[in-house]
Amino acid sequence: MSCPLRTMRKHYSKRLGVRRFQCAAAYHAASYVHTAALYNKEVDDHNLHPNVQPEAESTSPLLIFDTTLRDGEQSPGATLNYKEKMEIARALSVLGVDVCESGFPIASPGDFDAVRGIATEIGPLENNRKNGPMVIAGLARATEKDIQRCFDAVKYAPRHRIHTFLATSDIHLQYKLQMSRDDCLKRAVDAVGFAASLSPDVEFSPEDAGRSDPDFLVEVCNAVIAAGATTLNIPDTVGYTIPEEYGNLIKYLVDNVDHQGKGVVFSTHCHNDLGLASANTMAGIMAGARQAEVTINGIGERAGNTALEEVVMLLHTRKHLYPVHTQVDSKQIARCSRMVSHYTGMSIQPNKAIVGANAFAHESGIHQDGVLKHKATYEIMLPETVGLTENKMVLGKHSGRHAYKKRLEQLGYGDFTTEELDHFVEKFKVLADEKKTVTDADIEAIVSDEIFKPEAFWTLQALHVTAGNRVKPTATVTLQFRDGQEVSEAAMGTGPVDAVYQAIRRATHCCVLLNEFTIQSITDGTQALGEVIVRLQQDNSSAEEESDDLLNPQTGLIRNRQFVGHGANTDILVASATAYINALNRVLADAERKGTQEEDWSPSNAS
Ligand SMILES: [Zn+2]
Repeated sequence: MSCPLRTMRKHYSKRLGVRRFQCAAAYHAASYVHTAALYNKEVDDHNLHPNVQPEAESTSPLLIFDTTLRDGEQSPGATLNYKEKMEIARALSVLGVDVCESGFPIASPGDFDAVRGIATEIGPLENNRKNGPMVIAGLARATEKDIQRCFDAVKYAPRHRIHTFLATSDIHLQYKLQMSRDDCLKRAVDAVGFAASLSPDVEFSPEDAGRSDPDFLVEVCNAVIAAGATTLNIPDTVGYTIPEEYGNLIKYLVDNVDHQGKGVVFSTHCHNDLGLASANTMAGIMAGARQAEVTINGIGERAGNTALEEVVMLLHTRKHLYPVHTQVDSKQIARCSRMVSHYTGMSIQPNKAIVGANAFAHESGIHQDGVLKHKATYEIMLPETVGLTENKMVLGKHSGRHAYKKRLEQLGYGDFTTEELDHFVEKFKVLADEKKTVTDADIEAIVSDEIFKPEAFWTLQALHVTAGNRVKPTATVTLQFRDGQEVSEAAMGTGPVDAVYQAIRRATHCCVLLNEFTIQSITDGTQALGEVIVRLQQDNSSAEEESDDLLNPQTGLIRNRQFVGHGANTDILVASATAYINALNRVLADAERKGTQEEDWSPSNAS
């Protein structure tokens, strides 16, 4: 008997073919001629020298200012701990970004520590960087207290920058700051003057520049340049402008602000509320901006910022169209993207440009045929350019240690000790026993889970679950605290995962709220590894102690800190338990760093 699905598929692909043809016919013929000529030239260059950057003589440098650790961390739910911020800053340094905005030091002692740590440890790194050590920047509102605190954190870096800002749009002046334009001008000058007395590198942002009066902006820019500002960042804080408008604004400022001969750099900072962040940034660059503020994966406030990978790959792929080049090593993009996604717990949509899972996948039969005959038929970028290497080796339980070592190196995990390597190979082999082949995604899930694991306050020793359609789901867990004590608890729940979490809560006595639970399979098939991401928040509703909050530099609003946990296993209940415990360990590590008494959580002291 023929499969009913097959018949349906045949019917559907016929209809699809018709739709494709109509699309092609609607293509605008006139603009095609020009694009085609340009494209052929680019394809030729591309094939001859796939990774060649434009000559520095022919184009000017565009500074890449990454704010993943400041604006990016303001994304709802994207709280990073000290260790994670250090690792991301290190990856950004290897990636080749020019300026790393590491945080908002006055927000909390934790933010201050992270910025100071990055300035001290990552600031001096020069390994393979063509552009010297990375500039470490911190954000400060336009007050002496903020600016001093920022300087005290960034000053440990050989190259440091104070980034201060003040709103200039009438709507912000009237409703947020209740300030006149004259007062705004005076305060901006005072702030920049004070910052310049501390550091030679001062950036000023007229917040909400996108909705500010251009002539008032010229006045503010002239005044802050006189006071010592060296970078003028023009933010479209609310993601309101369109490319022509934003480009015109930058051009107006470049033409009318008195900056000639003063070495001042104009910068873009665009938000993606209307999906135009990258387009606006590119318009700003065309109009004369020579610094772009970006984040990895485009994370940031609300709909996010301009994505670093989009700007960098646009300049790489369409290099003939733009007068600038960057020092970013595009082969590091995939690794940075995965790291930021993993640490923040913010998954990347599959269709995300450059870094989405489908960005380089050619699944449709017609496309695949074309790609096989000539790559350039459907591929405008080579996957290797962003660091996606093709895995031609099949790894399984008969693969040797050397094969796994080589694969790990290709994936960017080259610096393991012999013991660490043995430990991972052991884990890969166990997995290979269960599911025959081990893919890159499996390897990454296992490795990243281990190396990014928070300090273990609690570890899972045993888990037993009964579930089904005629039983009440019940879980029994045995957990071990770091002092060696073991605790076993059982609980019932509405489903097996709920039962597991109730049992863990009973065993650990931790007051946390579960904000998010997501599960996905890492590879295809029923034998795939399941990955669970859990987001927890401390439950402060009954506690008298101060709540653990984050200050938003722009709105002044305070939000709750959230903690992400990951778990990967072929058994999704084990993955669920591990993810929950990992998130819980982060809550505890954060509390410990802030000086809460450890005895509070030790099982022997729990009441
Ligand atoms: Zn922003």
